[in-house]
Amino acid sequence: MSIQTRNSKFIIVGGGIHGVYIANALLKEGLAALDDLLIIDPNDEPLSNWKAVTSNVGMDYLRSPKVHHLDTEPFSLKKFARNRSYTRPLFIAPNDRPSLDLFNNHAGVILEESRIQERFYHGLVSRVSLHKNSASVSVNGETLNSQYVILSIGQGDNISWPDWAVAAKQHGAPVTHVLERSFSRLRLSDTATVAVIGGGMSAVHTAISLAANDRKIMLLSPHPLRQHDYDSDPGWMGPKYLTSFRKISNPKERRAVISTARNTGSITRDLKKKLLLLEKRNQCKIYTDSVVAFTPVSASLMQIRLSGGDVFGVNQIVLATGYNSTRPGGEMVDQLASNYNLPCSECGFPIPDVSLRWHKRLFVTGALAELEVGPASRNIIGAKMAAGKIVPFLNLVLTN
Ligand SMILES: Cc1cc2nc3c(=O)[nH]c(=O)nc-3n(C[C@H](O)[C@H](O)[C@H](O)COP(=O)(O)OP(=O)(O)OC[C@H]3O[C@@H](n4cnc5c(N)ncnc54)[C@H](O)[C@@H]3O)c2cc1C
Repeated sequence: MSIQTRNSKFIIVGGGIHGVYIANALLKEGLAALDDLLIIDPNDEPLSNWKAVTSNVGMDYLRSPKVHHLDTEPFSLKKFARNRSYTRPLFIAPNDRPSLDLFNNHAGVILEESRIQERFYHGLVSRVSLHKNSASVSVNGETLNSQYVILSIGQGDNISWPDWAVAAKQHGAPVTHVLERSFSRLRLSDTATVAVIGGGMSAVHTAISLAANDRKIMLLSPHPLRQHDYDSDPGWMGPKYLTSFRKISNPKERRAVISTARNTGSITRDLKKKLLLLEKRNQCKIYTDSVVAFTPVSASLMQIRLSGGDVFGVNQIVLATGYNSTRPGGEMVDQLASNYNLPCSECGFPIPDVSLRWHKRLFVTGALAELEVGPASRNIIGAKMAAGKIVPFLNLVLTN
């Protein structure tokens, strides 16, 4: 893309699920022509982070149902599935959840039809500047201008590493995090004893997909297995719970409601069944405990001590400990908040208005929008919910 074409009406920071959904919604609603959009992301292509984490954990089916996808039309994925033949079921129970292949192939068609990829610009935004009638971003040493900036940055920069694991890594121990781009399951030996740390979907997917004949898997979950079909109750996707949520004016109270509503560290019933079957077949051992100490023994052997006193020797440690609960976006968002005195809750997260404007030139989605969108904000449906707030606002200001 040449520099002349890089100034646009909308700059979307982040080309993941949320950034692509918002771009597609702006195009479909006629609020933007292709040239009006610029999507900036450090990866080579859209949805890279999504594809990396889902492949790293070995996920085969989504947790969310078939109406959660990248198109604006609810039954688009169902229609897309009609004439396809795949080697395994396209949807599974409960809740008709699509296979990852189907979801990704459908997303590929959305990208192709919308031609969004043509407006994809490779780079990491280091700064966002807000002005009275415009906004600009700094990327690759250039300043790019737009009328609006939309932050859809996900949480990839906010991966949670326990302190003992940081120390182990510093000792050169083979400790990796499954949500990191650098993770590679190919580097895990077929005969290793692998400790998978965590108790949620990522950990259990990882444990199941790594289990193999001669490889011993230990799943160390800090809590007993928790079973929930969704990340949060579907009532959080509509008026059932959101009507009363929006009446809460205190952001601290909203944060408390979100924390309670999220089924953090839980797994779906099918995944629990698969895991327990592996345990029965002695292919995976499940411990409800946490690592408190680590001792290197040799280049390929570590000793881990659990809080209950047990000590185990393992060859590899794979963390599936999710994301930190702090505000994502690092210095870029910190500077933005402090330079423009943008409203933040005690938890550090933005307090956007009902249209998800954190400033009159800046919108947020995903985790950054959750104090307004609610517990489902980080999910795929959260992108649709965000677009449902941003698009009507822009429709009003840009078409009058
Ligand atoms: C293993 C796994 C499985 C999941 N399964 C489901 C599921 O089945 N259903 C569901 O609803 N949700 C699921 N989720 C949650 C899921 O992550 C989100 O729904 C979705 O990926 C979030 O999209 P996003 O665009 O916010 O973040 P991402 O997909 O992470 O995209 C954000 C993008 O922003 C870019 N970015 C960040 N900072 C900058 C910057 N400064 N400049 C430029 N670009 C930047 C990043 O590089 C990234 O490409 C799952 C999560 C995980 C980890």
